[in-house]
Amino acid sequence: MIHEIRDLTIIGGGPTGLFALFYAGMRGATAQIVDALAEPGGQLTALYPEKDIFDVAGFPKIPAKELVRQLRAQAAQFDQPMHFGQRVVGLEEEDGHFVLVTETDRFPTRAIVIAAGIGAFAPRRLPQACAEPWYGKGIHDVVTDPEAFRGKKVVIIGGGDSAFDWGVQLLDRAASIAIVHRSDRFRAHDATVAQFRAAVDAGRASLYTFHELNDLVAPAGSGRFTHIVLRDVKAKTTRELEADVVLPMLGFVSDMGVINTWGLRIENDEIHVNSQMETGRPGIYAAGDVVAYPGKLKLIATGFGDAATAVNQAVHWVYPDKKVNPGHSSNMAIFGAKDD
Ligand SMILES: Cc1cc2nc3c(=O)[nH]c(=O)nc-3n(C[C@H](O)[C@H](O)[C@H](O)COP(=O)(O)OP(=O)(O)OC[C@H]3O[C@@H](n4cnc5c(N)ncnc54)[C@H](O)[C@@H]3O)c2cc1C
Repeated sequence: MIHEIRDLTIIGGGPTGLFALFYAGMRGATAQIVDALAEPGGQLTALYPEKDIFDVAGFPKIPAKELVRQLRAQAAQFDQPMHFGQRVVGLEEEDGHFVLVTETDRFPTRAIVIAAGIGAFAPRRLPQACAEPWYGKGIHDVVTDPEAFRGKKVVIIGGGDSAFDWGVQLLDRAASIAIVHRSDRFRAHDATVAQFRAAVDAGRASLYTFHELNDLVAPAGSGRFTHIVLRDVKAKTTRELEADVVLPMLGFVSDMGVINTWGLRIENDEIHVNSQMETGRPGIYAAGDVVAYPGKLKLIATGFGDAATAVNQAVHWVYPDKKVNPGHSSNMAIFGAKDD
């Protein structure tokens, strides 16, 4: 499918991209987001939707998924399209504009803001071949709604923040909850590990260290597994565990992919930009976690600032008669104020 040309296309619908989309609308530019994931929110949706965030200006505390909802609502004021499940795999130039290419679609655009965070990311899959047929049928590597697991016997595989965060979140929802990890060293916050260990001590949860998935057991013709087989990696013994849901929390693999080939200055998966968020290739700007400049902090708050700078510069590049300085939103006719 070939889409209509837009002034600005934002690669990435994380917090930076969502704010950039709003900002483009406020500046009177046509814009769109193209993102590889199925939903907006980037890392907030994929990695920590239930966690509270405390350092976003104006919100003393806000759950990650609620911040995404608010960012969407802010952007939705200008009715700009967002295209999800679209991974950018190519960049072409034709008739004086760019065309961003995904596996299925083409997105002509006058300018680009790359807000690709840590790159297109996908959950790391379980290495055991026995797991593969059960993805989507009891094995889920992304949790969006913890309520889906109410009353279920849940086994989480992994030893990082996500494993322990979800272990704690599901304590009161799941019928049983166990964490399985290959070692006894965890890459999770001590406080969360301590919270889960306290639940284990109270008989509300189980923790299997030095264990890994060995098999899944399903009654013939049932289409669902009822048990998993765990293997003790030290003792080389196996044991069965009742389970109707397995949540592999093994981290994400991320990839800058094709963006590496666009002639930008990229080191360690970071795009070097100047203080105008220019990448060095005219018409292509970058913002958020994906950029590097002296003093850059990888935070939501700084991503918002980067987005405002990148969009204002991009709008001026596309329409040189439009000023870089946006003026104050509190004075803008677009929001109903008498003066622009
Ligand atoms: C567990 C955890 C807790 C955190 N807590 C905080 C906190 O309390 N406060 C704080 O300020 N920050 C926190 N952060 C960091 C914060 O999440 C990031 O700074 C923020 O997500 C960066 O936003 P972004 O939009 O730049 O990138 P991302 O959120 O990474 O979004 C980038 C988007 O680009 C898309 N994309 C990438 N490449 C492509 C491609 N080729 N084609 C299409 N789409 C593509 C991805 O799919 C993704 O949706 C936390 C991070 C983690 C992991």
